[in-house]
Amino acid sequence: EHRPVLIVGAGVAGLALGNFLLREGIPCVVFERRGREYVERRQRAGVIDTRATRVFRKRGLEDRVVGGTPIKPTLGFRVDGQPRPLTLSLEEHGEGRLCPQQVLVRNLITAFEEDGGDLRFDTEVSVEDIGERPCVRLGDGTIVEGAFIAGCDGNHGASRAAIPEDRITRHTHEYGYAWLVVLADVPATHQTVMAIHRRGFAAQFARGPRASRFYLQCPLEDTTEDWPDERIWSELETRFGEPPATTGAIVEKQLLPLRGEVLSPMSHGRLHLLGDAAHIIPPMSAKGMNLALYDANAFADALIHYYKEGDTGPLDAYSDDRLREVWNYQAFATWFTDTVHDAGDPSHRGEFRHRVARADFDRLYNSATANRLLSEFVAGLT
Ligand code: FAD
Repeated sequence: EHRPVLIVGAGVAGLALGNFLLREGIPCVVFERRGREYVERRQRAGVIDTRATRVFRKRGLEDRVVGGTPIKPTLGFRVDGQPRPLTLSLEEHGEGRLCPQQVLVRNLITAFEEDGGDLRFDTEVSVEDIGERPCVRLGDGTIVEGAFIAGCDGNHGASRAAIPEDRITRHTHEYGYAWLVVLADVPATHQTVMAIHRRGFAAQFARGPRASRFYLQCPLEDTTEDWPDERIWSELETRFGEPPATTGAIVEKQLLPLRGEVLSPMSHGRLHLLGDAAHIIPPMSAKGMNLALYDANAFADALIHYYKEGDTGPLDAYSDDRLREVWNYQAFATWFTDTVHDAGDPSHRGEFRHRVARADFDRLYNSATANRLLSEFVAGLT
């Protein structure tokens, strides 16, 4: 095959895949509808877990692309206003990195270009054919043919839309509550602060040395107008049981209804979906970016096998293999997300569920087995 692998989207999934293929000499082109500056500044996730760090190590890219600081093995919970840190038992946890997504993206772009990769910004594509001669169409009408299409274009991309509707099932789950997501110029004093409180869940996560993301559980109906800056700071103080160490300028506010989604199957013809194009997982699990990286690793392995051995076995198994793992992490995300929300706020699902969630939460401190399972999920090793 001399035609390139066509990669739609330069997020973490598309850029990681591009780098992995380039290092094996497999021709590929990455198309990205946004400009470089926009992609390099888009703030989102902040954790590269142990498993994803190991993927970059295996591919000889760890030193070039994995930035940030080692993850500390303690989750900074505060329960009813009092500190109650939870230490995770797994030693491997420390291999993960606290690294803002845009730092990883920037490093992946630099590595791809240094290695001679073909990356086209400001190039929105539509997916024209996903059969034996897959191709995409550029804005000026040009058709580019490839060997395969990797749909890495996120939750609203063009790839998933190219699969006939009767060939794909969209499984969705609404959690029934939202997060107010706030980005502020506030240096974080701890890697994580997570408040379990009757007024709702709240959190502060470090995003680089000078910024933090704050999260406040709120009803689905709320809008950002309901949350002027003063209300945000006072509500954080109530839920944390102490004021944030410092306050600062709020640079972004958005409402995020918590939801899960899985598209099944993840492959059709010569199109394979990766990352958010195939699945959405709530940020409480810190797995969205990591699942995108595991997908890129698995799809790169399947392609490398195909180009070396001429065998499509792993490509044919890609969807089933990935879905088994995606559902495993959706199971973790629903359990962990609901536990920390219900353990605080009884109004949403009632007193009985509240007390069950408290028992689930307390077990993480009292049972080494329960702690171990959480640790494995956090590290991406189960
Ligand atoms: P994306 O990063 O969305 O990249 C898709 C790319 O495709 C985009 O650059 C887009 O412009 C491009 N594109 C779309 N359509 C086309 C087209 N037709 N042609 C060409 N290009 C196209 N994950 C975590 O692990 N931990 C967290 O703490 C976390 N927090 C989050 C907080 C927020 C507020 C949000 C929104 C997400 C968070 N996530 C988190 C999720 C994580 O950011 C995503 O899972 C991750 O970005 C998925 O990467 P991706 O490459 O699949 O998709």
